[in-house]
Amino acid sequence: ALSRLSEPALLKSQSYIDGTWASAADGATFAVHDPATNQVLAQVANLGQAETAQAITAAEAALPAWRAKTGKERANLMRRWFDLITAATDDLAIIMTAEQGKPLPEAKGEVAYGASFIEWFAEEAKRVSGDVMSSTWSDKRMVVLKQPIGVCASITPWNFPIAMITRKVAPAMAAGCTIVVKPAEQTPLSALALAELAHRAGIPKGVINIVTGDSERSIAIGKALCESPVVRHLSFTGSTPVGRILMEQCAPTVKKVALELGGHAPFIVFDDADIDAAVEGAIASKYRNAGQTCVCTNRFYAHADIYDEFVGKLAAKAAEITVGNGFDTGVSQGPLIDDQAVAKVKQHIADAQAKGATLLTGGSEITGLGTDRFIAPTVLGNATPAMLIAREETFGPVAAVFKFHDEAEVVRLANDTEFGLASYFYSRDIGRIWRVAEQLEYGMVGINTGLISNEVAPFGGVKQSGLGREGSVYGIDEYLEMKYLCMGGI
Ligand code: ADP
Repeated sequence: ALSRLSEPALLKSQSYIDGTWASAADGATFAVHDPATNQVLAQVANLGQAETAQAITAAEAALPAWRAKTGKERANLMRRWFDLITAATDDLAIIMTAEQGKPLPEAKGEVAYGASFIEWFAEEAKRVSGDVMSSTWSDKRMVVLKQPIGVCASITPWNFPIAMITRKVAPAMAAGCTIVVKPAEQTPLSALALAELAHRAGIPKGVINIVTGDSERSIAIGKALCESPVVRHLSFTGSTPVGRILMEQCAPTVKKVALELGGHAPFIVFDDADIDAAVEGAIASKYRNAGQTCVCTNRFYAHADIYDEFVGKLAAKAAEITVGNGFDTGVSQGPLIDDQAVAKVKQHIADAQAKGATLLTGGSEITGLGTDRFIAPTVLGNATPAMLIAREETFGPVAAVFKFHDEAEVVRLANDTEFGLASYFYSRDIGRIWRVAEQLEYGMVGINTGLISNEVAPFGGVKQSGLGREGSVYGIDEYLEMKYLCMGGI
């Protein structure tokens, strides 16, 4: 797959520390696989605690000069990085499809989405402003400065190998912070290609450091990042259980944490909805990235009066999705990331069927595609709260549709979860739109749309879906500390 690269130099297999490419001290490496074929794509440096400490030291050394630059100077360097990423879109997408599996057009879309955070925060770098309070003392003046929090760390997942990194690195850099990134072990190649382009853009050494490790060493790397008193901020996107571990590990140093954790998004179709639009939104929300995003719908609730029409149309559309290798033309759903992901999806389907769900389309893997990681887009009708899929995030291409009868009931069902990331509903009634939007306990609500995320919007969850917001004018605040100056003797 990687022989398609127009510039093979973007393919890196060492970590990037202090502006240079680094191997593990013991020479260890780990294999990165193409999930579609199981083919080994590269052997990547397998770093641990000691190398992570070196990366933290590099970030600490780079901090004073980076912080001292004006916002505009940082913005110009970031803009150069953005331009290089945009120019390398095709190659970055090839690397991403190879290691992550998503269809090539979707990978190109992610490159643009990922780059948009760099563009956005480069612009925001120039707009970090303090404040002057009206003093209640006639002889004192009160001023607030915004200053970079310091050395930051990020731990990121495999489902968006570029965007989950830029969404953290860009606001940190814009604020004047330096950063150490630990990408997911499944998708380090996209992260390293980003580092190569940052290097070419002239971003000073130590400002961005990428530390790679396999699943076992990722734990040691995570510990080193959490335990370091130098690291002042940890940003994590991943599962809720790992988020809890990291939060606990950050407690002894009282680190500021930003967590983007699991979701369990409800998607409600009211009886006054435009059903065709709801089906279109449902397909976009559910089957994008083979259902492997934290904002993917996990529970569909359709009103009893339109239930049959909605599930019928949804199943028909889902059955039209072309599944295959992400490099093949016309494919809109690739493989799942690994065998564990496949096992969880199959367990959710089997459990639902055993508890009375009706299988309307899909239901198993598609054979003849090389590996058994290709799950047919699945729609299950007659879902009930007793099913696993009603409580747990599936992270796969399975839509479970529940029937409801009234607004209060469905809002209660939608909120009956410890998660609170994204939610969606379709209605044309303005009163209902306001009522339901206000009552949903979620950080994000899509109303008459299944796609909500971009760099201008504050992305994040409530309850056990996380802490903090990424993107938007608010995203940079995470990386800034306020300092209050009280100036007397006036
Ligand atoms: P997913 O289910 O999406 O793989 P995880 O939460 O397991 O989500 O992984 C997200 C990221 O967290 C990856 O970069 C992974 O290596 C890292 N990770 C997983 N477990 C730990 C841990 N105990 N400490 C530090 N990082 C971890």
